[in-house]
Amino acid sequence: MVYKVVRYLNNPILEKPAAPVADAEYNTPALHDLVEDMFETMYASHGIGLAAPQIDIGKRITVIDVSGAEEGQEPERIVLINPEVVSKEGKQTGEEGCLSIPGFREPVSRAKKAVVRARDVKGEPFEITGEDLLARALLHEIDHLNGVLFVNHLSALKRDLIKRRIKKLQKAGEWE
Ligand SMILES: [Zn+2]
Repeated sequence: MVYKVVRYLNNPILEKPAAPVADAEYNTPALHDLVEDMFETMYASHGIGLAAPQIDIGKRITVIDVSGAEEGQEPERIVLINPEVVSKEGKQTGEEGCLSIPGFREPVSRAKKAVVRARDVKGEPFEITGEDLLARALLHEIDHLNGVLFVNHLSALKRDLIKRRIKKLQKAGEWE
């Protein structure tokens, strides 16, 4: 099932920290279905990552696939539940977008390498190391679970400009 992706400034859930997934929720049909639906929604939106708050579910769950599966590459599905950043290293600056802020892309500085600890759908703990695009995706998605969007990494001036443009789109009924 493809969910509607919530847009920035339309729903406060995007700016709130999400709640941890409880032990009893692991390995349940509900959690398996939710993760499948998150991948389906992400691929349908041509994204490389999606966090549960983006489909109006305030839980610490995110899915990522930076493989370019749409261009015929083998999918590399990553599911992170209750993820924590263990360490960050280096710096990269690159254009970043977000499925909740479509049409806007800005340069964002992030760590070049990130180590993340999380659990999978069965509740098994694991660690993943991401570099370059994967590091960016991991940090962007974990930000979502803390109520932080890429615009929060921009200057206040730039963020206000984007907010003003979005408010115009809202008024015109073009931001739903
Ligand atoms: Zn995003």
